[in-house]
Amino acid sequence: MTKSTENALHDCETQMHQPSVINQISELRKHLSNIRRQSKTIALVPTMGALHQGHLSLIQTAHQHADCVVASIFVNPTQFGVGEDFDSYPRTEQEDIEKLASEGVDCIFIPSAKEMYPTGFCSSVDLQGPARELETSHRPHFFSGVATVVTKLLLSVMPDTAIFGEKDYQQLQVIKQFTRDLNIPVKIIGAPTLRETDGLAMSSRNAYLSPAERKIAAQLYAQLVNCEADLSKNQSWQEVQRKAITNLTQIGFEVDYLELRDSQTLNLPIIGNQRRLLVAAKLGKTRLIDNIHIPAAS
Ligand code: AMP
Repeated sequence: MTKSTENALHDCETQMHQPSVINQISELRKHLSNIRRQSKTIALVPTMGALHQGHLSLIQTAHQHADCVVASIFVNPTQFGVGEDFDSYPRTEQEDIEKLASEGVDCIFIPSAKEMYPTGFCSSVDLQGPARELETSHRPHFFSGVATVVTKLLLSVMPDTAIFGEKDYQQLQVIKQFTRDLNIPVKIIGAPTLRETDGLAMSSRNAYLSPAERKIAAQLYAQLVNCEADLSKNQSWQEVQRKAITNLTQIGFEVDYLELRDSQTLNLPIIGNQRRLLVAAKLGKTRLIDNIHIPAAS
């Protein structure tokens, strides 16, 4: 057994250890091939860092599905539009590494933008289906950027499973669709949204909220829950939607969309199918998204 194989095995089997922090795809592949040679399974959790408990819950889910957990931290420039928050996005690399170490992550991949997009890079993944409308109507390049970077991460790690949060529900459906369409051999697992005690979905972007905005922000989820209650009383969707948008607007939100969709295709809902209620709204400079499950209409 080579020294690096021993190290890789050790990485897999020790609970509290320092993860390998790797910046280059070639080094990552070498490290993971040693692990794979031992017939260990690998789970990938892609993130943009500024980690919170929601991210860490994905790591815990990953441990349930694989022997070795790889996390990536990369603030992906191609999924940010002009005038969006790429430059100001919170970057807390050292704290993130410590949090991931305490969750027993085996390997942390932190590539540079140059490593992911070397000079001359000019390809991207083209999407339809669940990528249409909703986020795409407001951030037209977003999913192409996400799908391209996720494809590169999947092909660099070649994990058995990859975990994504339902917090970004449209993103989760897009990733399930294009990995299936492109025959990328990975099982995509969706994990539930972790919330603050007042219901606000945990998000790295919550750090942008002022104390006053932070109090109001919890209303986004509260309105989703109201909508669910009204729908269960057979109120019409148009009426429920109008009421919730009015409520959110009155307390200071600028609503990008509040839509009820089929939970898988994200097309308009069909009677008898599970549904998803999705919202995106700006509060001051902060854009928040959230969603909840809505049972099938009978
Ligand atoms: P991000 O760093 O925002 O790109 O998120 C990385 C992953 O964490 C994505 O799969 C997100 O859906 C997931 N995630 C973000 N916030 C939460 C949350 N509150 N609960 C669970 N997963 C989350």
